[in-house]
Amino acid sequence: SVMPATLAAISNGARNGLLFKGGIHLERLSRTGAVAFDKTGTLTKGRPAVTDVILRHGVNEAEFLRTAAAIESQSNHPLAKAIVQYALDKGVEKKFRWLSVQEQSGKGVKAEWQRESWRIGSSGYIGSKACSAFQQSVAEELGREGKTLVFAEDSKGIAGLFAFKDTVREDTADTIETLKKIGVYTVMLTGDNQQTAEAVASEARMDEVIANCLPEDKVEAVKKLRKKHGYVAMIGDGINDAPALAAADIGVAMGEGTDVALETADVVLMKNELANISRAIELSRKMTRIIK
Ligand code: ADP
Ligand code: MG
Repeated sequence: SVMPATLAAISNGARNGLLFKGGIHLERLSRTGAVAFDKTGTLTKGRPAVTDVILRHGVNEAEFLRTAAAIESQSNHPLAKAIVQYALDKGVEKKFRWLSVQEQSGKGVKAEWQRESWRIGSSGYIGSKACSAFQQSVAEELGREGKTLVFAEDSKGIAGLFAFKDTVREDTADTIETLKKIGVYTVMLTGDNQQTAEAVASEARMDEVIANCLPEDKVEAVKKLRKKHGYVAMIGDGINDAPALAAADIGVAMGEGTDVALETADVVLMKNELANISRAIELSRKMTRIIK
């Protein structure tokens, strides 16, 4: 039977936008020693906007954007949405032709049609070898500005690269500070590149940052944290976070997250308020004190 104190805490949580899928998660949360955060869509608003497009010499911008948007219109990734929006803003027609697209979680997308084949994604996925010296130096400069980079490759190499800027959530820094104060270790796990990851991590004052993470790397990181810090909570929003949400002692999803993340998670932050994670830990500690 569920303890009255647990029910009271669950309904208290619900009133504040915290959905617990069971009392056991509250109990576990009270013993959390570390919280691992995804970056895009979790620590940041997940509404990146394209700031720069650098094309290979001879590539037509309108044609490039039309193809990139047609491919990315089939992905739900925040970067994909930003590319589509940018193309529409540049006057690309809204009715995209249909292309068969494969999503590579944590890496990018792949599309093939007739004799053409494109990949759009991270430098780790596309490989920097495909870059010209010019593209590489521009990419490095944009990375230093803390921008996320995405490369679009056609059969001839990198046709163009996109740079994006996202904003850190208003309550991110406060949440991290509160967690540290109550003795919880904080880590960022991101599929983004090292420079961008460090820029965001230092703004949020995280204890640790691990960049270039594939979904399985996030799982490994959670397992390692557990050895050192005891119970680990993982908080994320994407398909790429789902394996780590499942591996963590407490999986937490942002309310605006993808279906897979919401289904996998034990706790959902319904209002997308990151500060609710530190509140949840405090609430769970209070509850277990009452039960004892
Ligand atoms: P995060 O861990 O920060 O949420 P992801 O794991 O979702 O990031 O993505 C990691 C990287 O993979 C992105 O920075 C991007 O370079 C690339 N990527 C993933 N999905 C896409 C996509 N649909 N289009 C372009 N690039 C993508
Ligand atoms: Mg994310």
